[in-house]
Amino acid sequence: MSQSTQRITAECPECAAEIRFDRSPLAGQIATCGECSAELEVTSREPIRLELAPEVEEDWGE
Ligand SMILES: [Zn+2]
Repeated sequence: MSQSTQRITAECPECAAEIRFDRSPLAGQIATCGECSAELEVTSREPIRLELAPEVEEDWGE
């Protein structure tokens, strides 16, 4: 098993930049795009999909 060199990437939905992860992200994890600084939420893990995170992080109402 040689998974240390595996590159985990996803595409920024805002500017299409490549987002790199050190390790497989968890669903709901927030990543920040290095190109456009958008906050992105991981909505799927395989394959990794990112969506713009809502601006309001607290108050998880329905
Ligand atoms: Zn971006």
